[in-house]
Amino acid sequence: MEIPEWQVHEYNSTTFLLRQSGCTDFEKPFIYLFFGKDKALLMDTGSRHGNLVPTLQRTVRMWLQRNSRTSIPLIVVHSHPHEDHVAGDAEVQAIHDPAMPITFIPAELEATKRFYGVARWPTDVGHVDLGGRVIDMIPIPGHSDLSVALYDRNTALLLAGDSLYPGRLYVADFPAFQASTERLIQFTQGKPISNILGNHIEQSSTPFVDYPVGTIYQPNEHELALSRGALLELEEALLSMHGTPRRMALRDFSVWPVGASFMSPNENAQFEKHRQEQIDTMWDHTPH
Ligand SMILES: [Zn+2]
Ligand SMILES: [Zn+2]
Repeated sequence: MEIPEWQVHEYNSTTFLLRQSGCTDFEKPFIYLFFGKDKALLMDTGSRHGNLVPTLQRTVRMWLQRNSRTSIPLIVVHSHPHEDHVAGDAEVQAIHDPAMPITFIPAELEATKRFYGVARWPTDVGHVDLGGRVIDMIPIPGHSDLSVALYDRNTALLLAGDSLYPGRLYVADFPAFQASTERLIQFTQGKPISNILGNHIEQSSTPFVDYPVGTIYQPNEHELALSRGALLELEEALLSMHGTPRRMALRDFSVWPVGASFMSPNENAQFEKHRQEQIDTMWDHTPH
């Protein structure tokens, strides 16, 4: 049986969700490809061993063919600089395909500010116009210093990166994360939000239950999409901690402060054991 390296989901004719297979890396991140009239935008390049380029080229070529075009400039941006979202950067930068000339925006502060036209980080909202399709960029540091959210005015999709998704929300800088959550709520006020889409799924379809860290095979995972209500629930959870970060499980996601207590030695050992077991049985899911 052949399992594709990337799953391509056509959300609509100009919006594609790509997901890396768990068999290449347990992080199995989602990345996003938006087409406007003049340009296309790719958010993130995948995790380790992703080999994104063939799937990316195939998807862009299919879109070009359908739209009777020969080329479209592709801008590559990032949700944040963590390895599981930038691991494919070098391979994407090495593409020299006349059908998709690439503008690469590194996951760095100055480049990000310049590209979206942001003067004051993190309080300004930036924009990029793909041609009949404006994408807003909201800086949301907290999970990482350089986390951003993207809002597509055409589909009302809000891409929240690693800051809100059905799984463990690792919080590196608690005050920044809380302030970013408040700004993101403010930004969404009065706007339609069709779905909040993040970078991972670690939650199972059973309320409050997540898969162990490092899980490859998730037959009963939570759906990717969250509503704006999740953002309000996150706000409430953070407020309830009164400035003292702690782990908290909610129905559709959990809050995981990163610090000394990020993973105990025992949890780390469990993670390694679980990871090895899965690798050993990767192709065999018959009950033992
Ligand atoms: Zn991350
Ligand atoms: Zn991630």
